[in-house]
Order: sequence, then structure tokens, then C-alpha cells
Amino acid sequence: MISACHLYPDLLNLYGDRGNIIAFRQRCEWRNIPVKIKSISLGDKIEFKDYDFVFLGGGSDREQNLIAADLMKRRDRLKDAIEGGLVVLAICGGYQLLGKYYQTAEGKQIPCLDILDLYTTAGSKRLVGNLVVEVKLGGKPLKVVGFENHSGRTYTRSVKPLGKVLCGSGNNGSDGLEGARYKNVYCSYLHGPLLPKNSGLTDRLISLALKRRGMEYHLKQLDDSLEESARRVMLDRLGLRM
Ligand code: GLN
Repeated sequence: MISACHLYPDLLNLYGDRGNIIAFRQRCEWRNIPVKIKSISLGDKIEFKDYDFVFLGGGSDREQNLIAADLMKRRDRLKDAIEGGLVVLAICGGYQLLGKYYQTAEGKQIPCLDILDLYTTAGSKRLVGNLVVEVKLGGKPLKVVGFENHSGRTYTRSVKPLGKVLCGSGNNGSDGLEGARYKNVYCSYLHGPLLPKNSGLTDRLISLALKRRGMEYHLKQLDDSLEESARRVMLDRLGLRM
């Protein structure tokens, strides 16, 4: 059984990001892998060490500000669990909250968890549009597709990116990089939501969650023709090959 946790689904809920936890669960269920999903919000108790997969979605500056103090109370246990191999997917606002701070366009600095060596400063112009990122999974390049809509520009000195921007802005619109990866933590600005169309990434997260449970489980191949055609349509429209 995989134990999954959806953090702040009532607040970090922009652009249908809950579709990520739905896709994760569905691809497990199609393989008869039982998944238990717990939603946790402000003030709820949770022991991250008891979980295999945690999802944090995107949120507006207002929601990020609302949950920052509550999330800060969980920081040490979340960091310990991440160091112990907890699988995390953090999208946009959820991604930014794992860094040192988020500075709003008005100059207000929201302290964040400082689990990842990165920081975010909001620009005046939002970075909005199609986003395609080349992600290396097991050495194989995968074009991951979606859209982005964020004012935050994220910078890091040491954290590996999720991948290279092929179309769009990515982390900050200047270094050509997108997202972040640290141990089993995968961060991205990709909305869409990310996982339903990019099944290779979903299966990677499922495999890592199973491994954390001590289950070396060969994931049977699913019929991904629908997902692949959705990606192909978007890539063709952008003049990019699969
Ligand atoms: N509030 C953050 C920003 O604008 C994150 C937005 C989001 O999660 N889409 O950068």
C-alpha cells in the first residue's frame, strides 16, 4: 500500500493541480497497487515519516502567505523525511515554499522552509504560457508539457533543475532551466496539471514511492496512447518533435 498525502488541497489548489494526485492514484489503481491518500490542511497533524508520497500544489501569493507559518511548524519533520527518501511533488507555489523565501512584487518577504537551496522573487510581469521541459528520466530525455503562470522568479546556486526549457520561461525566464530536483523531491512550474499528460514522470514517482516502501515492483506498461497523443498535439503545435 502506498501512503500519499495531499498538503493544503483547500488552499494550494490553483489551475486544477489536484489532477496530479488523481493521476498518481489512478495509475496505481490500474496496476492494482493500493493507495491511501490523506488530505492535510492548516493545523492538521501528520507524521511525514509514515508517508511515501507528498503533493503540494500551486497557490496565489495570498494562500502561500496563509499557509507559510503552518508549514514552517512542520519543517524539521518534512526535511527529515525528505532526507530519508520521501517522494515529493511540489508545483509552483508549493515548489517556492520549499526554498528559503518568497519575495512578493510588493517586496514582502515570506519566509519559506529552506529545505532547498533556492529563493524566489516576484517580478512585475507574470510568466505565462506554454511550457515544455526536457527532463532526463533514467538517462532518457522526455519532453514534459504543460503551461506556466507565475510572477515568481526562482534562482538557485546548487539545486539541480528538473530539466531544460524548450519552450516558455521556466524558473526565471533567464537561465533556461526549469524546476528543481533533490533526492526524491521533484519541483516544477508546470501546471496542466503536470502528471496526467506526462505519464513517464508519474510512473517515476510511483516507482520511487514503492521503493521507499521496500517494494521493488516492476510497473506493468499501461496504454498511454491518449496521453501521448495529447503531448504530440501540443508539441506539434509548438514545432517540437516528440
Ligand atoms: N504565487 C506564486 C507566483 O505567482 C505561485 C503561483 C502559482 O502557484 N501558480 O509566482
